[in-house]
Amino acid sequence: MSSLFPALTDGPADRPALRFGDRALTYGQLGAAAVAVAGRLRDARRVAVWATPELETAVAVTAGLLAGVAVVPLNPKSGEKELGHILADSAPELVLAAPGAELPFAVRDLTRLDVDADVTGTAPGPFEERAGGEDPALIVYTSGTTGPPKGAVIPRRAIAATLDALADAWQWTGEDVLVHGLPLFHVHGLVLGVLGPLRRGGSLRHLGRFTTQGVARELNSGATMLFGVPTMYHRIAEALPGEPELVKALSGARLLVSGSAALPVHDHERIAAATGRRVIERYGMTETLMNTSVRADGEARPGTVGVPLPGVELRLVEEDGTPVTAYDGETVGEIQVRGPNLFTEYLNRPDATAAAFTADGWFRTGDMAVREPDGYVRIVGRKATDLIKSGGYKIGAGEIENALLEHPGVREAAVTGEPDSDLGERIVAWVVPADPQSPPGLEELAEHVARRLAPHKRPRVVHHLQALPRNDMGKIMKRALSHG
Ligand code: ATP
Ligand code: MG
Repeated sequence: MSSLFPALTDGPADRPALRFGDRALTYGQLGAAAVAVAGRLRDARRVAVWATPELETAVAVTAGLLAGVAVVPLNPKSGEKELGHILADSAPELVLAAPGAELPFAVRDLTRLDVDADVTGTAPGPFEERAGGEDPALIVYTSGTTGPPKGAVIPRRAIAATLDALADAWQWTGEDVLVHGLPLFHVHGLVLGVLGPLRRGGSLRHLGRFTTQGVARELNSGATMLFGVPTMYHRIAEALPGEPELVKALSGARLLVSGSAALPVHDHERIAAATGRRVIERYGMTETLMNTSVRADGEARPGTVGVPLPGVELRLVEEDGTPVTAYDGETVGEIQVRGPNLFTEYLNRPDATAAAFTADGWFRTGDMAVREPDGYVRIVGRKATDLIKSGGYKIGAGEIENALLEHPGVREAAVTGEPDSDLGERIVAWVVPADPQSPPGLEELAEHVARRLAPHKRPRVVHHLQALPRNDMGKIMKRALSHG
């Protein structure tokens, strides 16, 4: 397979590649550092990377891919138990970390990177990427939203396929400069956020920690695009009225992209009203990389994730296995996908791998959706946690959450189902009130939802919380909600 990053060796050496805080590397410097590290990894089969939001992480991953070893990004914030599980499961020969990174326990074969020495140590020469397209490039653990994280083995051709499909959909080129504030141990921050710009020959500027001021500063000084998760766009929506620099920044950006979870319609609309710009949504998973997106030249319709990306086959399938053929915006089915963007297997989990695919090779995403008449996909939620069967209806949690968020007394909302002797399941709303002194009550919220959607979609129970349980990508952990 040809190189994943032609710009590393073929492009002009002085072009900017990465910036993390005040440390930056050109393509020439990144090439030199990555080639030097790759040379030391040649005998390894698998290496883990302690994925702090630092330059070293980007260098280590790039080096691993150049060397043709499988890279396992580790979440530095995960607890000892989860890290222990991932290290035992993936059994890396080395763990690469930045010089100052603090590890919570002793790790065997820990190797500290010295990027500053590596940058000057070797001449960036041509480097032959020895791996083939089906060889594992990354082993990324899923976010653990619905159960313990599983290691998805991602081959090189999936990375190339997904990044090139996004380049087509987003008109993404080497001229683009990405503002990045995401962690580097999931596909959003790593594959899209780091490998994406490098494959295009463009550059990225990582904020270290996401702040609206950082976003404004970068977009107002030459950056062209922003990738974020919905919690970031929520913070942006909240900050816009008081931050004119942020309004200017977003108004002038080429592309604002959201993913990893559903972007609340309320936040989408507030950003559009304040900046004249619509955030586009894309939908993907660790196992499939990216499946659908609103195209840069398409209509960004709130609550939808656009159309299948080039090369991705997508179908909706009803519970009894019948494919949904109607594009009526109403018939719900599970999203199944096929294409070059797919992973090969869950590491050490042949049972889970087999269960994830249909007999004819479609991957079962576990996400439920409808298709609108023009083919746009609208996700209604996850099969496991977001589909409530109540009074003979199948109700998606997402639309109720969107309706609740439009109530001025609601800051955050999540909806679950719980057993009900009468209805089968009843709708439960978990609400973070805008003003804790006067939280909106059940009657008021039930009426608000009934008026906006339909009476059978009204919540029957409301719990008030100070915050929703979220993981490090800002995803709502519904498991934690329903288990008290
Ligand atoms: P686990 O599989 O361990 O339970 P997870 O599914 O959250 O965790 P990821 O692979 O990081 O792990 O996330 C993929 C999921 O995120 C998708 O299956 C989907 O439910 C959700 N998702 C991603 N993008 C979007 C989006 N734009 N809109 C709605 N949901 C999205
Ligand atoms: Mg999942």
